[in-house]
Amino acid sequence: MFGKILIANRGEIACRVIRTARRLGVRTVAVYSDADARALHVEMADEAVHIGASPVGESYLRGDRIIAAALATGAEAIHPGYGFLSENPDFVDQVTAASLVFIGPSAASIRAMGLKDAAKRLMEQAGVPVVPGYHGVAQEIVLLASKAREIGYPVLIKARAGGGGKGMRRVDHPDDFSEALSGARREAKAAFGDDRVLVEKYVDKPRHIECQVFGDNFGNAVHLYERDCSAQRRHQKVIEEAPAPGMTPELREAMTEAAVKAAKAIDYSGAGTIEFIVDASEGLKADRFWFMEMNTRLQVEHPVTEMVTGVDLVEWQLRVAAGEKLPKTQDEIKLAGHAFEARLYAEDAAKGFLPATGTLHHLKFPDAAAEGAAIRIETGVRSGDMISPFYDPMIAKLVVHAMGRNAGLAALREALVRTEIAGSTVNTAFLAALVADADFAAGDVDTGLIGRHQDALVAIPAPSDEAIAAAALAATDAGAPGPAADPWSSLVGYAHFHMLARRIRLRYGEEDILARVSARPDGRFQVALEAPHDAINAHDLRTLPRTARWPGHVTVFEGAVGHTFAAPDPLAKADEAAAATGSLRAPMPGLVKLVRATAGDAVIKGQPLLILEAMKMEHTIAAPHDGVVAEIAAEGAQVSDGTVLVRFSEDGQG
Ligand code: ADP
Repeated sequence: MFGKILIANRGEIACRVIRTARRLGVRTVAVYSDADARALHVEMADEAVHIGASPVGESYLRGDRIIAAALATGAEAIHPGYGFLSENPDFVDQVTAASLVFIGPSAASIRAMGLKDAAKRLMEQAGVPVVPGYHGVAQEIVLLASKAREIGYPVLIKARAGGGGKGMRRVDHPDDFSEALSGARREAKAAFGDDRVLVEKYVDKPRHIECQVFGDNFGNAVHLYERDCSAQRRHQKVIEEAPAPGMTPELREAMTEAAVKAAKAIDYSGAGTIEFIVDASEGLKADRFWFMEMNTRLQVEHPVTEMVTGVDLVEWQLRVAAGEKLPKTQDEIKLAGHAFEARLYAEDAAKGFLPATGTLHHLKFPDAAAEGAAIRIETGVRSGDMISPFYDPMIAKLVVHAMGRNAGLAALREALVRTEIAGSTVNTAFLAALVADADFAAGDVDTGLIGRHQDALVAIPAPSDEAIAAAALAATDAGAPGPAADPWSSLVGYAHFHMLARRIRLRYGEEDILARVSARPDGRFQVALEAPHDAINAHDLRTLPRTARWPGHVTVFEGAVGHTFAAPDPLAKADEAAAATGSLRAPMPGLVKLVRATAGDAVIKGQPLLILEAMKMEHTIAAPHDGVVAEIAAEGAQVSDGTVLVRFSEDGQG
């Protein structure tokens, strides 16, 4: 086994690799960019090396600097994680040339699977079923169109260099072929610098089922069963599970056999995934699955396989790369129970899954599973960390394991409800809605399910009056319940000293809500809400919805939904005082939407200077006093917490 390895990645996967390495007594070296200087993976590793600026092109994709860091720290091997350099054969060559070990397959194996057309030709030769289609070299429009007609519509045009669903077009009618082809080519050229395409049959009611395979350097290859990743939005996986619901023994046998055949055909070493597309229009049939592509790395969703097989895939990666044989034979790998993984993202599901940024002011994951289930949280962030625009906005993967699928679903739902995140827009409610979707719950999934049910899945229920009342209470800053068993009585001290009644203005989306919080003689509170909401008598509430107070906001957790209210912050007064010293800072990360003043302008107190868009809301930033603007943020600028938005000139201050 290695004495020390370097992890050429960041976030949850870097943390996950470090954990296994540590358990095996292997020391770890992390690498990090400017934005990640204080990241969790840096803290967890034994050593860390700075490799450049925040953009990935200047850090995590800089193979030369990563190799130099490995050599400088005496690491013997490099684990690439997923993404970044994990499937770059040139990087593998450079690692090997530097006398280091790449923890993954050979450059030759990666190259063999790198382009979809060549990979499909190779798989056809190896006797692996491939989606009927054209994978040839010639690319004339007339030829491609006639191939499409031969295959039969609907067809799918795919970029041969494709990934992440880019350069892919479904075509239903011959008349639309040439336009779809130009679109796919344009996108492929822009994304991959390669506009060659393949054309294949569009599979009806497609399910994405993939097989985990593992090879060593002694010619052995095994499979670790399948994962179902059909719950996708825009070809991106959302919730993955193992085993596949409705899997039949016949299909499993045919599919796992084909997967091992595929791995052996390229002398595969390490962890790999063979992705298949399955026609589920008439249930799962052993002759209706086809090879789609091979991912020559560890997958994001590998934990579900680990949960149902009890195998630590990262441990196997390290052992195999260090020259050991596969730790288990095929017969020794058993399948037990059912596992789900939900990908928690900072994104706005209702706005087309727009990636979000922000500081995770409040972050709490369930610390134990539902009864009869196990839970695993894979994350690379802590409370207070920032989701920056530089990297994938994944916050965590919630992984659960239970004896059966229904118990697993219940455990996943509970895990989502008990997850609390405030400070960024997140997809928790969307994930919970998907778990509750009747078709998903029944295991009747296909890749179009999320798209068909999208409106219902992304709809966020309005906050209840109790939730609004809890927000109002929290906004009085008596809200943080503290250790008292009865949150309402914990407010007493505050009330006695500071208020008998207080009016609070909250903003929820476009709605302004006025609440009156009053202390009652019995030491309890009443929250009266403006119509159409009700008056809530604090003592009538059995349980106070959980809340998190963060700068300028309160988030109330109701079910799996986090309702965020903008609320005046007592601390804002301190900010105003700070502003008087000459500058206005962004209260949270956001986008400068509109700028209403320029340097040199004399402005008066209260005059709107710019509009900051953050947390789905527009915030008008007004002059805190009369003065002369010395400097102002540019329209369209992305700003982080605390960035100076407006600077006033010293002598211009009133
Ligand atoms: P990428 O490499 O861009 O992710 P894939 O070939 O892996 O592209 O396909 C991504 C997704 O597109 C699959 O998971 C599946 O949902 C869908 N898909 C791919 N091929 C077909 C097909 N022939 N018919 C129907 N859907 C397909």
